[in-house]
Amino acid sequence: MTMDTDNAPRSSSLADSIFPAQGEMGPLCRAKNWGETPLGPVETWPESLKAAAALVAHQGIAMNLCWGPELRQIYNDAYRTIMGDKHPAGLGAPVLVSWAEIRSEVEPLFARVMQGETVYFEDLMLRVDRHGVLEDASFTFSYSPVRIESGEVGAVLINCFETTAQVRARSVQAERDRLLAELDVERSRLSYVFNKAPFFLAVVRGPDHVFEMANDSYYQLVGHRDVIGKPVSEALPEVVAQGFIELLDGVLETGVPVVGREQAIDLQQTQGAPLERAFLDFMYIPFVEANGSRTGVIAHGVDVTAQVKARLEVERLLGDAEEARREAEQANRAKAEFLAAMSHELRTPLNAIGGYVELINMEIHGPVTEAQRDALNRVHASQRHLLTLINDILTHARLEAGRMEFDRSPVQVLPLLRDVETLIAPIASGKGIAYAIRECDPGLVLMADDERVRQIILNLVSNAVKFTDRGGTVTLACEPVGDRILLSVEDDGRGIPPEKLEAIFDPFMQVGRSLNRPEAGVGLGLAISRDLARGMWGELSVESEVGGGSTFTLSLPAA
Ligand code: ADP
Repeated sequence: MTMDTDNAPRSSSLADSIFPAQGEMGPLCRAKNWGETPLGPVETWPESLKAAAALVAHQGIAMNLCWGPELRQIYNDAYRTIMGDKHPAGLGAPVLVSWAEIRSEVEPLFARVMQGETVYFEDLMLRVDRHGVLEDASFTFSYSPVRIESGEVGAVLINCFETTAQVRARSVQAERDRLLAELDVERSRLSYVFNKAPFFLAVVRGPDHVFEMANDSYYQLVGHRDVIGKPVSEALPEVVAQGFIELLDGVLETGVPVVGREQAIDLQQTQGAPLERAFLDFMYIPFVEANGSRTGVIAHGVDVTAQVKARLEVERLLGDAEEARREAEQANRAKAEFLAAMSHELRTPLNAIGGYVELINMEIHGPVTEAQRDALNRVHASQRHLLTLINDILTHARLEAGRMEFDRSPVQVLPLLRDVETLIAPIASGKGIAYAIRECDPGLVLMADDERVRQIILNLVSNAVKFTDRGGTVTLACEPVGDRILLSVEDDGRGIPPEKLEAIFDPFMQVGRSLNRPEAGVGLGLAISRDLARGMWGELSVESEVGGGSTFTLSLPAA
C-alpha cells in the first residue's frame, strides 16, 4: 500500500464514515487528499457522491465510480485487482486516462451512459496494459448511470468481473474437445483401414500368443471365429500341429521376423468342419514396445489360395499335356519302328520273288511257254508295284521316326529337272501328255540333298501325269525368290477340291479313293514329299482348282 507521505493524513470523520477502515482501498481513500482533485475535499461532496462512494467502498464486487464530467475514479478492493499497475495513480484520476489503451472502445460507452442508458457486456475481450505489456483480458461488466441532485446523470458506475481465466479455460476446453474429436476421427479412420485392409492383420501378445486384435480379412481367413482374448492354441486348435506356434515362439524369443511364401495352412471354417487348405504369403514381426521389450507378434499377409490353386491347376494341366505328348511320341515311334521292321521283312522275300521270276523268265530252269511268260510278267509287275509301295512305307516310317538323314550340298536345278524329264517323258508321251520345262535360269543352285529333291520332283511329276487326261500339259518351272528357289510342277488335269488341299499331304490320303484302282499308290507320296522338303528346311504347297489343274510348289534354300 502506497501512502501519500508528503502530506499528513487528512483523515476526517466524514471520510471515515464513507470509507471502511479495513482492506486496502478503505484506508487509502480515507487518507487521500481529495482536495487535490476536481472532486474537492470530502466535506464538499454532494450527498449523491458520498452515497455512491460509500456504496462502492463497501461492496465485495469490483466497482469503479467514475464521477463528474472527467469521470474521476473511486474504486474498491476488488476493482483494485483489475487495475494492476494503473493503481495507485488511477485513484481520483480520469478513467479514460487510466485506461488510455482501450479509450476508443469504451469512450462511446461512457457517452451512452451519460445519456441515461445502461450498457452490459459479457466476456468482452479487451487488449489492456496493466503490467507493462498488452494482454488480452475478458470482462463481464455493466456501466450504469448515477443521477446527481439535479436529476441529471453525473457519474458512471462500473460493475465488473474479470473473466479472462474462465474464457481461457473455456477456449482450452474447446481446443481439447476439438483435438479429441479429431483424434476420434483419426482413430476411426485408422480402424477402418485396419479392418477393411485387403491384407490380414492380427496381433498376439505374451508367451501364449493371446489374440489382441484381428481385422476383417483375418476373421474371414479363420471362418469368423471369436479369437480375441484367446491363445492361438485355443482359438485355432487345428494349427497347433502345423508348426505355427513354434514360429511365433521363435519370433518372440529372437526378435527375428519370419517370412512365408505360399505357405500351406489347413484351417477349419467352423468347428468340426473338414480342414480346408489355404496358401498364405505372410510375415510375423515382433511387436516391440517403446522401451525395446518384445511383448507380442504382429501377423500380417495375404491369402493367395486362389492364385496358388490356379497355378497348380495350370501346372497339372501342362504336366498332363506334356505326358500325353510324350506318350503320343512314344507310340508314334513304336509304330514307325514296327513299320520299318515290317517293310524290311517284306522287302527281302519280295526281292527274292522278283529274282526268281527273272531267272524263270531267262529260261534257266527250262523253256517257258507264252502263257507262262505272260503270267510271269504279271507276277513281276505286281512284285514291282508292291516293292514301290513298301519302299514308300519304309521311307515314311523312317521320316516319322526321325531316322532320315539328309546329305545337303549344292544342287544345280536345271540338270536335275532334265534328269526327271528323261525318266518321265516316255510315260507322258505314252499317255499323250505334253511335257515341258518352261523357264529355268541355268545358274540356279539349291542347297539340298540331291537324291531327295529328285524323289520329290519325280513324285510330283508322276502325280501330274497320273491325274491329267490325254491331251493335257505338264510344265516344270523354277524361280528364285529372296534366298529361296521355287520349283513348280503345273498340270491342267482334274484338280483337287479346296477342302482336300491340306488333307492330300496326310499319309494314306487319296481323293476319291476306290478299291479298283490297281495302278494308284497308297497315298504316301505327298506326305513323304512334304516331310522330305521340311527335312531340308523347305516347304511343299499346292494351289488347285477342280477341273482347272494343280500347281505344286517346292520351296528350298538357295545355295
Ligand atoms: P498317291 O499318288 O499314292 O495316291 P499322293 O500322296 O502322291 O498319293 O497323292 C495323294 C492324293 O492327292 C492323290 O491320291 C490324289 O487324289 C491327289 N493328287 C496328288 N497330285 C495330284 C494332281 N497333280 N492332280 C490332282 N490330284 C492330285
